[in-house]
Amino acid sequence: MTQRLRVVWTPEMLRYDFGRGHPMAPDRLDLTIRLARELGLLADADLVGAAPASDALLATVHEPAYVAAVRRAETEGVADPARGLGTDDDPVFPGMHEASARVVQGTVDAALAVVAGDAVHAVNVAGGLHHAMPGAASGFCVYNDAAVGIRAMLDAGVERVAYVDVDAHHGDGVQAAFWDEPRVLTVSLHESGRGLFPGTGHPDETGGRHADGSAVNVALPAGTGDAGWLRAFDAVVPAVVEEFAPQVLVTQHGCDAHRLDPLTHLRVSVDAMRLASERLHELAHELTGGRWLALGGGGYAIVEVVPRAWAHLIGIAAHRPVDPDTEVPLAWREHVLETYGRTGPTTMSDGVTPAFRTWRSGFDPSDEVDRAIRATRAAAFPALGLDVEHD
Ligand SMILES: [Zn+2]
Ligand SMILES: [Zn+2]
Repeated sequence: MTQRLRVVWTPEMLRYDFGRGHPMAPDRLDLTIRLARELGLLADADLVGAAPASDALLATVHEPAYVAAVRRAETEGVADPARGLGTDDDPVFPGMHEASARVVQGTVDAALAVVAGDAVHAVNVAGGLHHAMPGAASGFCVYNDAAVGIRAMLDAGVERVAYVDVDAHHGDGVQAAFWDEPRVLTVSLHESGRGLFPGTGHPDETGGRHADGSAVNVALPAGTGDAGWLRAFDAVVPAVVEEFAPQVLVTQHGCDAHRLDPLTHLRVSVDAMRLASERLHELAHELTGGRWLALGGGGYAIVEVVPRAWAHLIGIAAHRPVDPDTEVPLAWREHVLETYGRTGPTTMSDGVTPAFRTWRSGFDPSDEVDRAIRATRAAAFPALGLDVEHD
């Protein structure tokens, strides 16, 4: 098996653009790839573009009538609010179908390359569009590249896929796509839906009748910072993924849990996100023979957070992890200053060294994060054959 990293990238990915003033600005992808390149992380990677996915491929997850509606939106500019098209979150834009379908094909090609052993790991920072539903756009997501990618792996004969989503929002579209599918474990670590879109992702959502235990949801209170976020990750993610014994690991790295993110209320650092990405990489080597597909997702602090969080991810996947004390390359900062009139971050760290207590060290019922973790373990662990208290 080759040790090369595949990075899904072509500037055509920048066409996924809801327009001026929309939080999902394509600049976040451009700044990420620029930073990764300046840091030398792409030197040994295969950068691979993608054609737009066919309607038949999209139809493995999406309703044909919805795909037709997206095409109509693209060609005629027709809104279809019942299908989430032409809303504030998902305005119609020129080339909407083609740009969205291209992200899907990039993820599918990367998924199949990892399965075939053509790449040891793959990253698609344009992907991770986890809110898209079979019949509707939602939350800045038109087509669900993660779900279509996982479906393609199942269709290629993969028997078990684990999906771990650390975006601040619940990975509702991926969970919905595989709700009653025992071959896919979906794990989402997010800010509680009580105060944040999409309002789902409660611990008692554990999968359909034929797949109980196939969905795991950690719903953290607003304000959760590094120590709580990492504690929750550590207390749930490795145990459930190990128990499921996947053949491939798919991860979604939305970085909107950061304290500077304008849309959410978590307080996580780039440093904690880097640790989570490292742990997921380790899990892939422990459990799936390294087969790992990492996707982007949300993240709306487009200068301060997204490029650094995802450059770290690319560095980890390239086996060139970036020391957090590394200075952000001057050429990148000059580009940011010239283009945005802003001073970008100067180092690859937020200047913190995240630490957390393991679950084994004890549970504090007066702590809101601990109660959230406990609720997830109580709801999800038994169906997976795990011990609520000890695993
Ligand atoms: Zn998000
Ligand atoms: Zn590796």
